[in-house]
Amino acid sequence: MSTEFGFLDQVHRAFNQAAALTDLDGGLLAQIRTCNSVYRLTFPLKRDDGSIEVIEAWRAEHSQHKLPTKGGIRFSSGVTEDEVMALAALMTFKCSVVDVPFGGAKGGIKIDRGHYSAGELERITRRYTYELIKKRFIGPGIDVPAPDYGTGPTEMAWIVDTYKSMSNGEQNPEACVTGKPIEQEGIRGRLDATGRGVFYGIREVCNIPEEMSDLRLPTGLEGKRVVVQGLGNVGYHAARHLEDGGAILVGLAEREGAIANPGGLDLDAVVAHREETGSILGFPGATDIARSAEALELDCDILIPAALENQITAENAGRIQAKIIGEAANGPTTADADQILLERGVRVLPDLYLNAGGVTVSYFEWLKNLSHVRFGRMEKRFDEAAHRSLLVEISRVTGVDVSTTDIPDLGADEEDLVHSGLEETMVVAYHQIRDIEKSLGIKDLRTASFVTAIKKIAISYQELGIFP
Ligand code: NAD
Repeated sequence: MSTEFGFLDQVHRAFNQAAALTDLDGGLLAQIRTCNSVYRLTFPLKRDDGSIEVIEAWRAEHSQHKLPTKGGIRFSSGVTEDEVMALAALMTFKCSVVDVPFGGAKGGIKIDRGHYSAGELERITRRYTYELIKKRFIGPGIDVPAPDYGTGPTEMAWIVDTYKSMSNGEQNPEACVTGKPIEQEGIRGRLDATGRGVFYGIREVCNIPEEMSDLRLPTGLEGKRVVVQGLGNVGYHAARHLEDGGAILVGLAEREGAIANPGGLDLDAVVAHREETGSILGFPGATDIARSAEALELDCDILIPAALENQITAENAGRIQAKIIGEAANGPTTADADQILLERGVRVLPDLYLNAGGVTVSYFEWLKNLSHVRFGRMEKRFDEAAHRSLLVEISRVTGVDVSTTDIPDLGADEEDLVHSGLEETMVVAYHQIRDIEKSLGIKDLRTASFVTAIKKIAISYQELGIFP
């Protein structure tokens, strides 16, 4: 894995490039760029065998221009302070791009979850939460974590339970974290939200004839050849929705290696094969690629890095064959690689736009927790009755019997509303950044996304009256 600069430097380079295209005051830009607070902590873990291990962790809050701050918690042996600060910064700009009214934050615990029992993971998560509470780095109006690499609903359930047990009568303790299980005040549609958002973003680009003719590709998602790196939460769900939407998965990569088949891979059959054998390698009909990273260079239309940062670097960017790169992971492309891809005319859908589906639905979950009402509860049956009456009236006026009984769902439930809100968010944000891109006369969606975000954040600061 090659890194030309640290991850935070990469984010700063992208920020600076965009900032130069605005006419905002230098001091204001410096404030928008800087990371406001970082909490580095260590605590002891008593392991199952009785030994003690010191765990290292962080929580970074990049910007409080809107509260609460928001961002996932990752479990990874590679976590560093630089990485957590970079990811927190990306969260600030991401929230701004999709109009989610939060500042950015990120947490990291330096562990490889595969090396710990469920009981040990629970003790780590609960102790981390306890430490965040003590320093006021968590709370529904302060800082609201969510899942990220290596974490999921179970960890979020431990966080909310720890927070509730210490909240002493607080009214909305469930809103202290998102990505919770449904039974623990989570929201339907959060689990696959990031991957679904990736799908909506890619489908939107593919449906624009002008975009596709620039890339010499036919319009539409149908038949597009896709390679996905990482079959975790984001990668799996992105791949599943793309496959359902008519794309062909021609390559899939995991830690142990990659597989390719130009005729297409059946995602769920690959996942079943991996569960059975412990590896994606050896999948019937596919070619094995022992060095997983080589999958990034496969012949395809769309490449989706959905694992970790720094995967597309100056070293391999020249060999990427995809015409579209959908950044499902955070920071998968280094700044030098980005430049090479731009020069080669590859269309990069940047992380701060494309993987914003997770935080968008986290926002819906937070709203649900504050309102204590499930989306759709008040209006579902009312809408259903209104639509049925309309059908009866159409039948009466036209004399054509529009049967109302065999149309089952005429009112939207929570999941329908979440999907609809997410689709709207991803489509609107895409056109916003594309319009900015056009107005700047550039062909670079990352810079356009940063410019969009910086301008919106600047307004929040200017409203305070202390910045020009
Ligand atoms: P995850 O832990 O569920 O999945 C990551 C997957 O990547 C795992 O299956 C892992 O085995 C695989 N992987 C690791 N190294 C690899 C390698 N070198 N080659 C191929 N595969 C490899 O994590 P996730 O939640 O899906 O997050 C993935 C990325 O998406 C991260 O960059 C994360 O920050 C970003 N992201 C996640 C969310 C979310 O809602 N979970 C939201 C926005 C962005």
